[in-house]
Amino acid sequence: MYFVNLVYLYFGLTALLVFVLLFGDAPAFQRTPVSYVKWLVTEAWLLALERVVETMFGERGLRMLDSATECCCESSNPMLQIAYLSIVSVGYGLTWQFVFKLLPNAYAAEYHIYTGTAAVCGAVGLFLWASMSDPGRLTPESAALYLAAYPPDGLLFPPKHCSTCDLMRPGRSKHCNACGSCIIRFDHHCGWLNNCIGLNNSRHFLAFLFGNLLLCCYACWAAAAATAGSLQQRGFFDVYVYDPVLKDRVALYTRPAWFLEAAVTGGGAIAAYCIVPACRNVIPWPF
Ligand SMILES: [Zn+2]
Ligand SMILES: [Zn+2]
Repeated sequence: MYFVNLVYLYFGLTALLVFVLLFGDAPAFQRTPVSYVKWLVTEAWLLALERVVETMFGERGLRMLDSATECCCESSNPMLQIAYLSIVSVGYGLTWQFVFKLLPNAYAAEYHIYTGTAAVCGAVGLFLWASMSDPGRLTPESAALYLAAYPPDGLLFPPKHCSTCDLMRPGRSKHCNACGSCIIRFDHHCGWLNNCIGLNNSRHFLAFLFGNLLLCCYACWAAAAATAGSLQQRGFFDVYVYDPVLKDRVALYTRPAWFLEAAVTGGGAIAAYCIVPACRNVIPWPF
């Protein structure tokens, strides 16, 4: 199978997965393969895992699985932070080992070694900045101020008293069990950052996302360009085959430049859509 076909397959499967995750619960797809695949990837594998653990280790195994799930997903712990740093470190190590040594060549200059390293440092810096940021914890002193700024609307946000913090909760606030406090204008608890995302750190979170999005786009382009340059040096693009339909020789491989440009343009469009609200410290999701 040609390499480009593998790339198509990868992006096709990714697009399919995103579609299934977004629309699997939509009424239009009830009792269709879309809802079935959503169930498979979100619930069925967990049920199967529970069944396997129960068969192998009995009730005790199930209790251990429960406490492991609670420790990983519902309490404050640095596991995903360690996972993020490991992924970035291994990615950078592999790039150092296999990509940087292809530079310079016809498609990528030597300075990408330095700009690539700076991009990785920048993404990790944004990660640390967002991880350590204050999401905006509700305190007895600030409760009245934020109750006035975000009054409960009685519909989506009924007036509520948090029994743990012993405070009246403003609209859009929520108590986070992992962080142990009410967060003003709560968005979500981010496992990767091991931190809540709220009023004070929306911009930190979005900067972390955009920084890593740009790093991914840049890394994809740089790795592809470095590889393409190396392949050209080895005469890879000079291979031709005879096409019996066209009755002419055609290049076996072509440089997939349009594909790289489309990926970078797509990333840029998403960034442009989000960057204005991000500067105003607003999460640009439409909900
Ligand atoms: Zn609370
Ligand atoms: Zn939290």
